[in-house]
Amino acid sequence: MSTDGTSGLSTITPANLPEAASFEQLGYSGAVLRGIGEAGYERPLEVQTACAQPAMDGRDLVVRSKTGSGKTLAFAAPILSVLDYSARAPQALVLAPTRELALQVHGEFEKIAGHTGLKSVPVYGGTGFGRQLDALRTGVQLVVGTPGRVLDHYARGTLRLDDVRIFVLDEADEMLSAGFYEDIIQVFDALRALEQVLLFSATLPHNIAKMINRYMEEPINVDLSTDRVDVERIENVVYRLTDPEGTRQQLLVAVLESEDPGAAIVFCNTKSDTEAVTAYLTRRGFDAVLLNSNLAQTARERVMGRMKEGKHRLLVATDIAARGIDISFLPCVINYEPPFDVQLYIHRTGRTGRVDRKGRAITLLSAADDVEMRKISAQYNLKVTEEETPTREETLKMLSARRIRELKERLVHDPVIPDEFRTIAQDIIADGDAERIVALLVDHYLAEAAHEPQPEPRSEGHGHPSGRRRRRRR
Ligand code: AMP
Repeated sequence: MSTDGTSGLSTITPANLPEAASFEQLGYSGAVLRGIGEAGYERPLEVQTACAQPAMDGRDLVVRSKTGSGKTLAFAAPILSVLDYSARAPQALVLAPTRELALQVHGEFEKIAGHTGLKSVPVYGGTGFGRQLDALRTGVQLVVGTPGRVLDHYARGTLRLDDVRIFVLDEADEMLSAGFYEDIIQVFDALRALEQVLLFSATLPHNIAKMINRYMEEPINVDLSTDRVDVERIENVVYRLTDPEGTRQQLLVAVLESEDPGAAIVFCNTKSDTEAVTAYLTRRGFDAVLLNSNLAQTARERVMGRMKEGKHRLLVATDIAARGIDISFLPCVINYEPPFDVQLYIHRTGRTGRVDRKGRAITLLSAADDVEMRKISAQYNLKVTEEETPTREETLKMLSARRIRELKERLVHDPVIPDEFRTIAQDIIADGDAERIVALLVDHYLAEAAHEPQPEPRSEGHGHPSGRRRRRRR
């Protein structure tokens, strides 16, 4: 650990991180170690090694670590190692920005808690109170939830926060950008027995710094490569819009044809772009689905579920809609254009190629985007590979070959074509307008096909009021 000269805070970085070859060395409880073994995790990841001891010692932590780095286990294992399982009031509270992330985090706790006797419940909005109430009534030691719903339960008196001593804020910056600042402050103020705060955030905007000063005591900073793109696991690639007459949508099709990713997420900067891009791709026979904040929560979950099952190939999303969702199963992220904010590049690309998988981050560039991309690559010291953009003719050839392949596959599934259609086909071929007629048919066929449910998977499936000091255990 080093001491930061200005603030006097201790900082853990990769450079001074103690070596840990095994989970046993981290000091987790025996029950937790058994759970970790059964979950199949072999070795601790950096963030887990860094957080283990200070977290179990009751220290406050500010952890700047990438999504997908194993941060959930980094707080779940120490918490599960120190909970009092004989008590039935919540002792630990985890807040996450979205329902999906809350469920994911809760799932990670459960995955390793099999031998601890843990009783826990995820609480989130968009669903009835019934099941959450039942669990809360029976008594739990851990609550994982979204800020709004946690406060709802608290206000109704169905969730007691008096005994919560450990408070985790996961993806704190995302919670703030989702407008939860006031809610989080209310939760802090309700936690009268609070002893320890573990704050995880990719970035530390002003409001979070304020929160740290107000509610945390001599936190240890754990700073693991937040602002670095993991060059080992992510290949950063750009394609340029070389055709002066060409559009970005055409470039996207060229890239999809030439890269042919099993599945990918296409990030757009605006909602209207997600809509236009989805429509454009669909019209050209690509299996693309839209994810933006105009979609209701249930629709978003359905889309994500279908992506995970490999039932769609391309997810076209805005940053906001993609927040907190697990897309680590996708091998490829495509930036339809460089993000407005350089940090978003990390958010987007950090989600592919998680832990032991390689990912590819592709950015489409017009001449005007060069400055933006140079800023990103300088900021994060990226090695960017420039791929040659296929020409319009090459792209059309690939597109055409694919459509013909798909139509031929269709022939295998639908071998019997009524005679009258064959006669029509022969007459079209003989007609002077044959090319235009067939083009029209293909267009209509693709438009129809886009609305049909996909029969086969096509991608590789796979408190204290302000100013008052809180009681400390130490
Ligand atoms: P997170 O950063 O918490 O979203 O974690 C990303 C993924 O890494 C999750 O799917 C975890 O199951 C997985 N993971 C966490 N810890 C380990 C580990 N020590 N070894 C391998 N995978 C892990």
